[in-house]
Amino acid sequence: MQQFDVIVVGKGNAALCAALAARDQGASVAMLEAAPAEESGGNSCFAGGVMRFAYNSVEDLKQIAELSDEEAKSADWSSNTTDEFYDDLYRVTSYRTDPELSEALITKSFETMVWLRSQGARFVPNYRQSGVVAGRRKFFGRMPIEASGGGPGLVQSLTDTAIRKGVEIFYETRAVSLIYDGECVLGVTAKSRGKAVEYHARAVVLACGGFEANPEWRTRYLGPGWELAKVRGTRFNMGEGLKMALDIGACPYGNWSGCHAVSWERYAPEFGDVSTSHDPYRHSYPFGIMVNAEGKRFVDEGADIRNFTYAKYGRMVQQQPGSYAWQVFDQKVTHLLLKPYSVRSATKVQANTLEELAAKLEGVNPEGFLKTVREFNAAVRTDVPFDPTVKDGRRTVGVEPPKLNWANPLDTPPFEAYAVTCGITFTFGGLRINHQTGQVLDVNFNRIPGLYAAGETVGGLFYFNYPGGTGLVSGSVFGRIAGTGAASAALTTLT
Ligand SMILES: Cc1cc2nc3c(=O)[nH]c(=O)nc-3n(C[C@H](O)[C@H](O)[C@H](O)COP(=O)(O)OP(=O)(O)OC[C@H]3O[C@@H](n4cnc5c(N)ncnc54)[C@H](O)[C@@H]3O)c2cc1C
Repeated sequence: MQQFDVIVVGKGNAALCAALAARDQGASVAMLEAAPAEESGGNSCFAGGVMRFAYNSVEDLKQIAELSDEEAKSADWSSNTTDEFYDDLYRVTSYRTDPELSEALITKSFETMVWLRSQGARFVPNYRQSGVVAGRRKFFGRMPIEASGGGPGLVQSLTDTAIRKGVEIFYETRAVSLIYDGECVLGVTAKSRGKAVEYHARAVVLACGGFEANPEWRTRYLGPGWELAKVRGTRFNMGEGLKMALDIGACPYGNWSGCHAVSWERYAPEFGDVSTSHDPYRHSYPFGIMVNAEGKRFVDEGADIRNFTYAKYGRMVQQQPGSYAWQVFDQKVTHLLLKPYSVRSATKVQANTLEELAAKLEGVNPEGFLKTVREFNAAVRTDVPFDPTVKDGRRTVGVEPPKLNWANPLDTPPFEAYAVTCGITFTFGGLRINHQTGQVLDVNFNRIPGLYAAGETVGGLFYFNYPGGTGLVSGSVFGRIAGTGAASAALTTLT
C-alpha cells in the first residue's frame, strides 16, 4: 500500500498537466501508467502537436512560441479570437457543446498555453498549415502554433518537468478500480506487473483516455462495424477510467455514440505505431473526390477546410459498403497532397486514363466510378478560379452530394488513387465534471468527494465533429483545472 495526496491515472498530456498543477500546489503526486515507459504517453504521443487556442495577434503568439521579430513580421499569422473559437466549436458540434465546458476551454486556452511554456513545453510555427499567398506567408485554419517535436515532444518535456519536480511515475500499472467507502474516493486498486497493488490518496484524477482501443465497447456504444476500425493511436485506452467511475455512480455525459475518426490508410496496422504514426494520414481529400465500392461519391469533400471536416469523415467512410473508399486525384493537384501520400506503405494506384484507373480500384464498380466522374466533371463551375489557400467557392452544380470548394474536373493524367478506411482517434463520451474544479459529478449532479477527471475521460465538449487541434489544448486546460482542484481538496483535508 502506498499513500499520496493526489493520484493521477494515465500519463498523457491531460494527466501530466494535472500532475504538474497538483505538484505546484505542494501535493505529493503519483502517476499510474498502464503502458511500459517506452509506450507511455497515450494518444498525446501520437498527436501531430497542433494546438488550437484563442489569440488576437502575433504579439500573443510571441508569449508562447519562439518567434524571432523577423519571423513574426514576415507572415500573416491571422487570429483566433475567442469569438472565432466559439463560432468554430459551436458550428462543428452542431451547437451541442456544453456551454460551461466550452467557455472554460476557450477563455483559459491562451493562459494555459503560456502556463505550458512555463512547465517546459516548447512551441514552434505550424508551417504545414501555411502557404505563400501574393508573396507573403499566410497561416490557415486558425492554429499557427504546434508543439516542438509534436505530441511526443510535448509529452517528453512535461515528463521531464514532472520528474524534476518530484512526481512519482509507476509504469505498467493499470488502474482497475477505485477505492471508495460509499461517500469518498480514497485511492485506486491497480494491476502492476501481474500484482494487485493499492494506492491510497486524498484525491484521484482520472486522465486515462476514452474507450477507442476497446473493440467491444466501440461496438457497444458506437455501433456495429466499429470493432473493425483501425485505432490511430495507443492500444492502452480501454475505457477503464470510465468504467471505474461509472461503477461508483459517476454520471455519464456527452456524445457516447460519437467519436473523432478520419480517413486512414486502408491496410494500416490495428493500432498506431509511434515510429510511423503519420504515415497512414490521408487528409488531402478536399483536392479530389472520394468514391465507395459502388463508385459513388458520399461526402462533400470540399465542404470546409480539412480541420473542420476530417474528424467526421472517418465515420462516413466506416458507413460505406465494406468500410472502405478510394480518394482520387489528377495531376493538377497531386503537388498539393500531404507528405504521407508519398510513403511506401500507401495503398496507391496510378493510371493514364480513367478507364484504366477504374479497373485498378480494387473493390469498386468500374461503370459506377466512370459515371460518377463524368457527371462530376460536367458539374464543376470552371469559371470560378481554383485557389487552395482559401475556401474558393469553386463548386459543383447539379450533383449530389455537391462539392462546395476546390472542385476540379478529373481530366489531367496520370490519375492517382489511394485506398482508405476508417481510423478512430478518440471517443467523445465521458464523465460529467464541474468545469471549475474538474470534480466528477454523480448521477444526481453532486460532486463525488475525491474524484476528478480530465482529457478524453471528460464528456460534453465534442459532438459529431471536432475542430482540429483542440484535443491537446482541452487536455491541458482541464488537466490543469483538475490537478489544481484535486490538490487543493487533498491539502485542505490535511489541515
Ligand atoms: C494520430 C493522432 C494525431 C493527433 N493529432 C492531434 C493534434 O495534432 N492536435 C491535437 O490537439 N490533438 C491531436 N490528437 C488528439 C490528441 O492526441 C488527444 O485528444 C489527446 O492526446 C488526449 O489526451 P489525454 O491525456 O486525454 O489522453 P491520452 O494521451 O490518450 O492519455 C491517456 C493515458 O492513460 C493511460 N491509461 C489508459 N488506461 C489506463 C489505466 N486503466 N490505468 C493507467 N493508465 C491508463 C494511457 O496509457 C495513456 O497514458 C491526435 C490523436 C491521434 C491518435
